Amino acid sequence: SENVVSCIGCGVIIQTENKEGLGYAPPSSLEKEQVVCQRCFRLKHYNEVQDVALTDDDFLKILNGLGEVDALIVKVVDIVDFNGSFLAGLHRFVGKNPVILIGNKSDILPKSVKPNKLINWMKYEAKQLGLKPAEVLLCSAEKGHHIKETLDVIEKHRRGKDVYIVGCTNVGKSTFINRIIKEVTGEEDIITTSQFPGTTLDMIEIPLDDGQAIIDTPGIINRDQMAHVINKKDLKRVMPRKEMKPKSFQLNEEQSLFVGGLARFDYMSGGKKSFTCYFSNELEIHRTKLENADNLYEKHAGELLTPPRREDLESFPELVKHEFSVKDEKMDIVFSGLGWITINEPGAKIAAYAPKGVSVLVRKSLI
Ligand code: GDP
Repeated sequence: SENVVSCIGCGVIIQTENKEGLGYAPPSSLEKEQVVCQRCFRLKHYNEVQDVALTDDDFLKILNGLGEVDALIVKVVDIVDFNGSFLAGLHRFVGKNPVILIGNKSDILPKSVKPNKLINWMKYEAKQLGLKPAEVLLCSAEKGHHIKETLDVIEKHRRGKDVYIVGCTNVGKSTFINRIIKEVTGEEDIITTSQFPGTTLDMIEIPLDDGQAIIDTPGIINRDQMAHVINKKDLKRVMPRKEMKPKSFQLNEEQSLFVGGLARFDYMSGGKKSFTCYFSNELEIHRTKLENADNLYEKHAGELLTPPRREDLESFPELVKHEFSVKDEKMDIVFSGLGWITINEPGAKIAAYAPKGVSVLVRKSLI
């Protein structure tokens, strides 16, 4: 109909009938020039989110749509949660369209990391996952690092076509697009950003000079992430947000590390070795003997080993064990959305525990 109004935050179609429903805004808000749905309003002013979920079916529709357009695809991943945010199946849907891969949140990695090395690592990992990007870049949408270069690269590859920005929720896609808008038009905060997964709902178009557009697609919720098992109050502490300070440990066989109460790392065998932990600086790491580890968790989860909080323990998923026999040096054991532990020397048997539903994997060291 002619009266369709979209939320300037998330792009959802505004409705004024159902307060609990998606896209609700009070009728009076329709008189304003720029309408914001209640959800985005709350998010912006109170930093509060309402749960939403884009179903896998809806996301598939969007993906299928990508194969049918003639466009440049810009795929944004969270460099701190590369594998978790990669959307491994995407390349099957993009058809012949070129893909630019952007690792966002580069400000969180230790400054000692060499960008070129990291970009090579991303290329290698992307290839392993079936994607051959036309170009690979790093940026920090939040700090505004490398945004100009990224725009130049986009401009170089788009050849007068539309640009679709895709990515999992929480990779910083909205922040990235807001940066682009700022860069292109000087406006701020057109799209909602938030800390919680699943907040960009509908497509948003940012017009470009030549009549084409940059199109923000909704993110799919990455179900394997820590963000889905943790209390929203604690998410701020758990998700790395600032430059990570690596913590190194010399471990003997049969020693264990707890990352808060969220993950556990048992070093089973391989002689004395060094390990480096990359997590949010606000998470405490506790070392114990393997033989005491079960007991420690039983007694101190929710207190010494926190988050989770005590009151959340009942609903917190049990820790599930994943075993790895790591032959090479410089391999990472990754806890999806939480961080990783680098095994600095070759030959280690590891048992890694994460809450049920959170994936754990081994990869070539990112750093
Ligand atoms: P979206 O769901 O992909 O649209 O993600 P958002 O743009 O809402 O960002 C998710 C979270 O990541 C927010 O807390 C942002 O502040 C944060 N974030 C986004 N970009 C960056 C970045 O470059 N560096 C850091 N440190 N945080 C970022």
